[in-house]
Amino acid sequence: MIFYLARSPKMLKTLAVSLRNVVNKILHAPIVDKRLIEEVIRDIQRALLKADVNVRLVLSLSNSIREKALKVEVPPGFSRKDVIIRLIYEELVNILGGETKPDVSIKRGKGHVLMLVGIQGSGKTTSAAKLAYFYKKRGYKVGLVCADTFRPGAQDQLRQLADKIGVPFFGAKEAGSKDPIKIAIKGVEYFKKSNYDLIIIDTAGRHKNEKDLMAEMKELYKRIAPDEVMLVIDATIGQQAGVQAKAFNETVKVGSILVTKLDGTARGGGALSAVAATGAKIKFIGVGEKVEELEVFDPPSFVSRLLGMGDIKSLVERMKQVELLREESVKRIMRGKLTLEDLYQQLITLRKLGPLRKVLELVPGFMLSMDETKIDIADEKLDKWIAILQSMTKEELMNPRIINRSRMQRIARGSGTTVSDVKELLDYYQVLSRSLKKIMRRSRRFGGIRFPGVNLR
Ligand code: GDP
Ligand code: MG
Repeated sequence: MIFYLARSPKMLKTLAVSLRNVVNKILHAPIVDKRLIEEVIRDIQRALLKADVNVRLVLSLSNSIREKALKVEVPPGFSRKDVIIRLIYEELVNILGGETKPDVSIKRGKGHVLMLVGIQGSGKTTSAAKLAYFYKKRGYKVGLVCADTFRPGAQDQLRQLADKIGVPFFGAKEAGSKDPIKIAIKGVEYFKKSNYDLIIIDTAGRHKNEKDLMAEMKELYKRIAPDEVMLVIDATIGQQAGVQAKAFNETVKVGSILVTKLDGTARGGGALSAVAATGAKIKFIGVGEKVEELEVFDPPSFVSRLLGMGDIKSLVERMKQVELLREESVKRIMRGKLTLEDLYQQLITLRKLGPLRKVLELVPGFMLSMDETKIDIADEKLDKWIAILQSMTKEELMNPRIINRSRMQRIARGSGTTVSDVKELLDYYQVLSRSLKKIMRRSRRFGGIRFPGVNLR
């Protein structure tokens, strides 16, 4: 089969659609039980296997979901469904390279040769210019080589882009040859002689047939021995991406992936298959036709898009913040000690999390102490208190006892509040830390407080 001809619209669906269906199934399920989870796992397995994702990867992903789905503690304010969606999200993010962005740095002065491969129309030439611009802006010396002599106009297309971004170009004219191999070899030599950091080689994406194209890629690969082969994949081609990636990877060792056209409606499910088929990681994504429309790949954003949930990333962020807040505040309670600095940090985190009333329920420390003291904080008060605490010196925060009348006046002036506001905060702090101590003393007598899911060491 000539794979680049197979771009039927039916191919656009599959992975992204199936994953979206899985998320919907979870969201609309009347109850979350073992049966639902098994069903969800089966759906995910089917979707991923159909997308050519490695069987071992699929199994370890399903095992992890099965193991944790009903066991992981549900943080207050969230549901079991949220937890399961987060599990799926995190497993997919892992496949794509984890939470952190890929390392795109390049050794300077070494003439790093980057060869772009991919089918016609995937966006190689555009991406070559984008990459050149990206690295040039970061202070690298970059040269562009056009080794596509099959398509008429290919040379001029890259030459014009190179001129536009002010990057030197080397093509058929410069090499005095129409042989792509000769152009590439001479181009690399030319730029290496002048100590360029990065030499980007744009290649042909089409030949009379697939065999000729692959033969040319193989020959190029052998002769110029690139430091990195980057596969350029069009996000809109869906699962064909896996087939293409496999074909290229069997010819040249694909080291990284650039997914183009993610500015449209495509979810990029095929990218996952390309990753699975090559074992290479996605480094960049193209998000438009202009040279500056290139981004370093961010797995969490990509998976959010893949699952069709724009807010999944923020859901996970919020869940993590709540966990952290719980953990930290519990640690403080266990110490039975709270400084104004601690209080300040808590108030800031509380404000970030949203409506105070809801959030306070999430923090065991505040819940307990509020119960004890019947003290409530309104949202305006929270802002006021944060301002007051910001006007204090480090010394005052760590040792509130030194805050006398004149210090209170200074703090009130600095925060645009009154001395009685400052006093009120200090009173609240006193009551809070006293009740914390009391709770701790009592709990020690009863063998300590336990908070599920919180590691106190
Ligand atoms: P090549 O045949 O692989 O060299 O592909 P080209 O670089 O010539 O690009 C083919 C078409 O895709 C051109 O019209 C580009 O403007 C367009 N294109 C490339 N990258 C992107 C992208 O990230 N977003 C959008 N919207 N279009 C792109
Ligand atoms: Mg091209």
